[in-house]
Amino acid sequence: MAVCPVCNGLKDAVLMCTNCGQAMLEFGKLMDYYDDYSPYMEIDLLKLEDGFSDNYKRHTCAHLYRCPHCQNEEVMFIKE
Ligand SMILES: [Zn+2]
Ligand SMILES: [Zn+2]
Repeated sequence: MAVCPVCNGLKDAVLMCTNCGQAMLEFGKLMDYYDDYSPYMEIDLLKLEDGFSDNYKRHTCAHLYRCPHCQNEEVMFIKE
């Protein structure tokens, strides 16, 4: 059974901020935020690549990253 390596602590995925180039911090699973803030997140999700809803359900685990320097937020899709 496929598992997300980040969720299981097998791997620290490092994402560099596209805005300032600093390492971003993993902020948790997007799904957790999506459940809590779906009225707000839906707007952001529309800006993500097409097919997100399929990936969301199936092959990838979406993690939210935030830059501690400029507060930029990005979503990284971890292959399960
Ligand atoms: Zn995950
Ligand atoms: Zn930044």
